[in-house]
Amino acid sequence: MESLEARILKDGYVLGENILKVDSFLTHQVDLHLMKEIGDVFAKKFRDAGITKVVTIEASGIAPALYTADALGVPMIFAKKSKNITMNEGILTAEVFSFTKQVTNTVSIASKYLSEKDKVLIVDDFLANGQAAKGLVEIVEQAGAKVEAVGIVIEKSFQEGRGLLEEAGIPVFSLARLERFENGKVVFKEADL
Ligand code: 5GP
Repeated sequence: MESLEARILKDGYVLGENILKVDSFLTHQVDLHLMKEIGDVFAKKFRDAGITKVVTIEASGIAPALYTADALGVPMIFAKKSKNITMNEGILTAEVFSFTKQVTNTVSIASKYLSEKDKVLIVDDFLANGQAAKGLVEIVEQAGAKVEAVGIVIEKSFQEGRGLLEEAGIPVFSLARLERFENGKVVFKEADL
């Protein structure tokens, strides 16, 4: 997605060996025009796939997932990272090791929001080692629902997330694919969408 790649080059910056900061338009301050464009691109790809729910994980997946769900005309569900006393029955959970925070969270979705009739598109902001997406796949499958695909805004192709998901038979579609960082600059490879 050209406008996303241009924005990454303009406003993204590389932190350390393998982190891209995009907090001015995606992970902290959110550019709604760009999110709408992202939602429209994912929705166009999955328009005829019979998607019934878009699932993401809080917090930074919510913005692109919401616009995708809106464009597809289906609900968006975000997995919660901490258990809340109001979530006292029927919870689907998975353990997710956070790449950026280096901690393991139990993430959860109330079982009443997913059923075996659902065809799910998982959307997230980044794909690194695939732990967040894998946890979401586990939750969706616990509900007996089907994961149609994983849609990613920014994939770091030098990490193992895509391989992990594809080995499990889940197609991955990324809007921007980072091949490597070179002297603090992003080098792209061809994206899927
Ligand atoms: P994974 O679970 O695939 O290892 O990592 C994906 C999650 O970690 C994403 O939901 C995202 O929040 C965070 N993440 C991974 N890599 C980066 C990165 O380079 N920059 C930012 N801002 N977040 C990242």
